[in-house]
Amino acid sequence: MNKGYLGDNIPKLGFGLMRLPMIGEEIDMEQTISMVDTFMQKGFTYFDTAYVYINGKSEVAAREALVKRYPRDSFTVATKLPLWDNVETEEDMQRIFDTSMERLGVDYIDFYLLHAMDKTKFEKADAIGAWDFIFKMKEQGKIRHCGFSFHDSADVLDEALTKHPEAEFVQLQINYLDWESDNVQARKCYEVCLKHNKPIVVMEPIKGGSLASMAESAQSVLTNANPDASVASWAVRYCAGLDNIVTVLSGMSTQAQMDDNVSYMENFQPLSEEESATLNKAIDALNAIPTIPCTACRYCVDDCPQQINIPEIFKAMNGYKQFGNAAGTNKPFNQWNYNRATKDGGKASDCIQCGSCEAHCPQHINIIEELKAAAAVYEA
Ligand code: SF4
Ligand code: SF4
Repeated sequence: MNKGYLGDNIPKLGFGLMRLPMIGEEIDMEQTISMVDTFMQKGFTYFDTAYVYINGKSEVAAREALVKRYPRDSFTVATKLPLWDNVETEEDMQRIFDTSMERLGVDYIDFYLLHAMDKTKFEKADAIGAWDFIFKMKEQGKIRHCGFSFHDSADVLDEALTKHPEAEFVQLQINYLDWESDNVQARKCYEVCLKHNKPIVVMEPIKGGSLASMAESAQSVLTNANPDASVASWAVRYCAGLDNIVTVLSGMSTQAQMDDNVSYMENFQPLSEEESATLNKAIDALNAIPTIPCTACRYCVDDCPQQINIPEIFKAMNGYKQFGNAAGTNKPFNQWNYNRATKDGGKASDCIQCGSCEAHCPQHINIIEELKAAAAVYEA
C-alpha cells in the first residue's frame, strides 16, 4: 500500500493487553509497568485493550502503566465496544464508551473498534445504530479512527465492508497456520481488506500461543535454521511482513516475552525468501502430523451411555498432537479445552467400551483407543 496509509508510521509490533501477567485475580502491575517501559523505550507505540478484557482491569492497567506515565502523544491506544446481550441502546453504548474513557484516563481514543464482529453482530450494530454512535464520537473528537475486529467468513466481511465503507480499518486473526484454513479464512479475509483498501491490525499472530511451541518434527525445522530465533518470532515476522498492516498485536504475559518480541521487531526485517521456504517446511511438517479425522458430525454422541463429548475431546487432542505442551508450561496443550469438554459429561476415562459410538462413526475412527490416549494425556 502507498505511504500515507493509516499505519505507515506505526511500528509493526503492538502490545495486546488481554493476557497481562496476573497475581491471583489481580494484574501484576509491577511487571506490567516494566513491560510497558521496555516497549516504549524500544520505540513501539500501539496498545490494544477492550472494555471486557480482564473484567475491565486491562483498561485500568493501561491508565496506570501507560497513560499516567507517558505523554499522550507518545502512544496510541485502541479499545473496543462489545455488542453483547446487555447492549441494546445508544445509552448503553454511551455508558460503555464513557466507562472506557474514564478507566483509560484519556480524553480521546486513537482506535475504537466494534468488538468481535460476525454476521449476527453486524445485524445488531445496524439495528441499534452502533456505526452512527461511534462516528458521532469521532465527530466530537473523542475517537481518532473507527474500525472493527472480526471473526467470521470472508463473505461476511466483504458484505460488511461494502455496506460500511466508512470503517477505517479492520482487526483480523492472521497466522501462518490459519492462512489457508477453511475455518478462519485468514488469506481470504486479508484479500477482502485489500480489495476494500482497508488497513489491517493483526491479532493472534501466534494463534493464542500455539505457534510459540510445537511438535518437535516442525519446531526443529525452525530452530535448526536459526537457533537464535524464538519459535514465536517466525510467526510475528510472518504477519508483520504482509502489506497493508497497521501493526501486529502480541498479547504478552511476561517480561521475557516482551524482551524476545522487541529484540527482533526493533529493527524489523520481513522474512527473507530463504526463511519463507523454511517456514513452509515447518508448516508441511505440522500438517503431516497425523490427527484424528473427526468431522464433529456428532453422530457418536447421542447414544453414549457415559455422555462423553467425543468430538470436543478429539479437537483438544488434535491440538495436543500438533503442539504438545503449551508454551512455557508442563501442561498439555488444550487442557482448558479438555476440561470444558468434560465439564458437563463423562471424561475420556469414563468410557466403558460399549462400542456404540464406533458403530455410528462414518469416519471409522477407533474411538475407544483414542479416548484411552486422551485420558493418558489429560487425566494423568
Ligand atoms: S464406547 Fe465409550 S465413548 Fe463410545 S459410546 Fe460406549 S461409553 Fe461412550
Ligand atoms: S461420529 Fe466420528 S466423526 Fe462424527 S463426531 Fe463422532 S468421532 Fe467425530
